[in-house]
Amino acid sequence: MSNAFDMRGFIENSLLEWDDHVAAVVIAGGCNLRCPYCHSWRYVTGVDDLERLDTEAVFALLKRQAGWINGVVFTGGEPTLQPGLESMLRRVKERGAPVKLHTNGTRPDVVETLLREGLIDCLALDCKAPLDERFFKAAGITQDSAVLESVQRSFALAAAMDGEREYHTTLAPAVLDFAAFGDMATALETGGTWYLQQYENGDCLNPRAAGSRQYTNDELDRFEALARSRHDRVVLKRGRNA
Ligand code: SF4
Repeated sequence: MSNAFDMRGFIENSLLEWDDHVAAVVIAGGCNLRCPYCHSWRYVTGVDDLERLDTEAVFALLKRQAGWINGVVFTGGEPTLQPGLESMLRRVKERGAPVKLHTNGTRPDVVETLLREGLIDCLALDCKAPLDERFFKAAGITQDSAVLESVQRSFALAAAMDGEREYHTTLAPAVLDFAAFGDMATALETGGTWYLQQYENGDCLNPRAAGSRQYTNDELDRFEALARSRHDRVVLKRGRNA
């Protein structure tokens, strides 16, 4: 049921969320991780201060602007926690709009079902840190091998899928150094586009843990070069403070 989808944010059209798409953006409330650098913290720890929105707005928009909106992005928070996600995606697809799902990868069963049902045109997966004990610092949670196994499964699903996939990494010095990034570059499969983004200090979930330091432009260049040494499609977003 789409009313089982807790939507706390909605952008009617955006050019920023999906390359080559004018996309509506559906933002789910709530997340099971606490990444200190998270710039979407309003949809994580601040969700109770946000009004729960009527999901019918999504379908009204698609009806009103059919032919102009050419995609719907589901992000958050963490959309795979929402029991109404499959129903929402199915209704969007029935209206002819491609779907991009951005997930932290902790719910591979949901991702697997949605892929099997043909409800995801583009899968965007967070690539926070190497998938070992370093992951937990980046995710802001205590060590839990079940979480790690789940995220590993999501990466395997992404690697095996036929469609478009993206990987997203926030370059936050407090949780990710060059050595860790090098390990990620080695482990990550090469069939997707790898987006690297500057950490936005001062507006994040846990500023104390995330720290104030940002990587410099030169350091960002080094990360990009390291990624490009193994991956063909790398996009660096330098952000506002670099
Ligand atoms: S960055 Fe982390 S805390 Fe923020 S929405 Fe994504 S998974 Fe959740």
